[in-house]
Amino acid sequence: MASVNENLLSLSSNYLFAGIAKEVQAYRVTHPEADIISLGIGDVTQPLCPAVVEALHRATDEMARGDSFRGYGPEQGYEFLREAIRQNALLNRGIHIGADEIFVNDGAKSDTGNFQELLGTDNVVAVTDPVYPVYTDANAMTGRQIVTLPCTPENAFVPAFPQQHIDVVYLCYPNNPTGTTLSRARLSQWVDYALKNDVLILYDAAYEAYIQDDDIPRSIYEIEGARACAVEFHSYSKTAGFTGIRCGFTIIPRDVKVKTSDGRRMALNPLWNRRQCTKFNGASYLSQRAAEAIYTTVGKEQVGATIRYYMENARRMKQALQSIGLQVYGGDNAPYLWVGTPEEEPSWDFFRRLLSEAHVVCTPGVGFGPSGEGFVRLTAFGQRERTEEALQRIKHIY
Ligand code: PLP
Repeated sequence: MASVNENLLSLSSNYLFAGIAKEVQAYRVTHPEADIISLGIGDVTQPLCPAVVEALHRATDEMARGDSFRGYGPEQGYEFLREAIRQNALLNRGIHIGADEIFVNDGAKSDTGNFQELLGTDNVVAVTDPVYPVYTDANAMTGRQIVTLPCTPENAFVPAFPQQHIDVVYLCYPNNPTGTTLSRARLSQWVDYALKNDVLILYDAAYEAYIQDDDIPRSIYEIEGARACAVEFHSYSKTAGFTGIRCGFTIIPRDVKVKTSDGRRMALNPLWNRRQCTKFNGASYLSQRAAEAIYTTVGKEQVGATIRYYMENARRMKQALQSIGLQVYGGDNAPYLWVGTPEEEPSWDFFRRLLSEAHVVCTPGVGFGPSGEGFVRLTAFGQRERTEEALQRIKHIY
């Protein structure tokens, strides 16, 4: 009989959002009349922008004709998209990354979860607490030792350097779930720390498009030295409403290296290429043409308008919640608000109270890690009227 990977048994039984969905569903069954508004899961609500929709139509028409049909594409992504990324997401910010250092993905979840396959199981991995659960769970599945770095109001949700030896650290800024950011100075210190201590930084930039403040880096490669110590993950999910389309990209500079057991240094870029060629057949042609359209002049304008819409939601949410005396973090350069529960009520109690009294769904902070206890995460991805309605209801119960 096949035996189980025992590491999976150490995971909590429910992925956080599945657990929330189950509670909400149970509430719906007993309260079918309730008009529930979700400010919980980080999915978007606004439709794809016209430039993307047109690109999808064009690509579909190509697929419908024998002379332009495309089957399997390159595992690394089509050249047209890698080049568009290089020019429009990197070079325009003074970042020099080769097209062969860009790997198109089917969204950042797969790559942030899968990248650890390139690393030895004896690596010590640091994650922030609270954290996007994918990093922790993916490493726990392999049985790696995980070190947590608490992020609290006291340290402005920016972790201190670990006291103990680590090999890898996941950093995500703008942060999910706290909605906070890393200043250029602090990110530089992390890069210096990584170079000095031979630590690999896995930098999740899934929310970079939400940065409003010019002084906050949108990519770790804006920092000198990062090419030698950091891999960066991008996603079009929140940038352009691609949660259902599935596309993004991962940057693996050729200079980022790991060590072998006999002391050699080995570049991660060809290893990831090897891994992808075995396990990944590329994001779909349609998704990649859709992503390319984001970088056209009109695409940039349209995508920018949607981001402004969500950030206006965030502004209104922050203002309304602060007006009733709640402690609110994030929401200025990120679509997430990290809200202290009244009188430090436990996260799940507050979640259930908000659900039953206001019919509003939030995400219990403790689901992202122990330091999230006493907080909930609210997202600005809702429709404006529904978001306003949710705020009215929350104000009403206070
Ligand atoms: N990284 C972070 C921090 C996220 O919050 C998410 C999604 O919520 C992802 C990555 C993955 O997004 P996707 O797989 O849709 O690109």
